Amino acid sequence: MRVFNFAAGPSTLPVPVLEITQKELLDYQGTGMSITEMSHRGKPFMAVNDEANALLRELMNIPEDYSVLFVQGGASQQFAAVPLNLLQKGKADYILTGNFAQKAYEEGLKYGDMAVAASSKDAKYTFIPDVNDMKFRDNIDYVHMTYNNTIFGSRFTELPKTDATLVTDMSSNILSEVVDVKKFGLIYAGAQKNIAPAGVTIVIVKKDLLGKASPICPTMLNYAIQDKNDSLYNTPPCFSIYVAMLVFRWLKELGGVPAMQKINEEKAKILYDFIDNSSFYKNNVNKKDRSLMNVPFVSPSEELDAKFIKEAAANGLVSLKGHRIVGGMRASIYNAMPIEGVKKLVEFMKKFEMENK
Ligand SMILES: *Cc1c(COP(=O)(O)O)cnc(C)c1O
Repeated sequence: MRVFNFAAGPSTLPVPVLEITQKELLDYQGTGMSITEMSHRGKPFMAVNDEANALLRELMNIPEDYSVLFVQGGASQQFAAVPLNLLQKGKADYILTGNFAQKAYEEGLKYGDMAVAASSKDAKYTFIPDVNDMKFRDNIDYVHMTYNNTIFGSRFTELPKTDATLVTDMSSNILSEVVDVKKFGLIYAGAQKNIAPAGVTIVIVKKDLLGKASPICPTMLNYAIQDKNDSLYNTPPCFSIYVAMLVFRWLKELGGVPAMQKINEEKAKILYDFIDNSSFYKNNVNKKDRSLMNVPFVSPSEELDAKFIKEAAANGLVSLKGHRIVGGMRASIYNAMPIEGVKKLVEFMKKFEMENK
């Protein structure tokens, strides 16, 4: 039986996509084999690679002067790839809004003169610093921000004001809301939250930033080389790219990102409204900065949190345990989580509150 899976990543995928994957696994389009068993340079896979690329461009409205790369190593690999490709003057500023932002900054420190432009660390990352108060240094190569903070459940609703190249980690909110790609020099995202199985990492980079990589940049991390080779410099994560293509088709059919955003806003509203009207559950994130994708919450005690997680799982609502550095619960309600899943969760929360108040 399928459960409602609130995992933060890898996370739930759309059922229609899983069904197609299952159907095509023994015989992909009359080839007599699955997409994972054939050459990545053969026609069938090249067509998948091209369609995935074209669909992502269409869904995100990515302008011609940007390259879309499918690479490996996860978002964490990009923490190094970004400075290795973009540093010219040797300086960049980071906005610390969570654990992954901190990790990106620490990795960056290995390669250049990095500074923290703003941080909410002292408040346990419960808010996004005001973009109007952010001061960036002169002569920096880029400003790095984490658009949606997967662990703490916050997100930017306004972009930092800077003339420097804006770089963002969009791992947990890519394709969940409309974003103006033109505002960024570089967007990267691991696929395993909103797109596909773990394996592929999306990089969307403005073409005029290519070809300036540091001489020590590993070949595999060099965006210009990946771009020149249509992301097929070496063997790509074929299965992950194939499922990504199916997810992009699914999303397009649904009405694209604007339609998805409406559904996501509705899902998040159901959950936040319920939490805010309850004296039992609490979400500590500044209201304006709340994530549409990851909703952390607590009950009155750690004992009740543990009981909640256990009983929810017994009711087909799984992977609700919060990240170990935050505790409590976290409901990740990515694109593939249907609205019924959120409604079922709220019903369960009501019942649990009544029984344990
Ligand atoms: C999950 C996540 C990461 C880490 O991704 P990997 O692909 O596991 O390296 C980085 N940043 C954000 C915002 C994430 O949600």
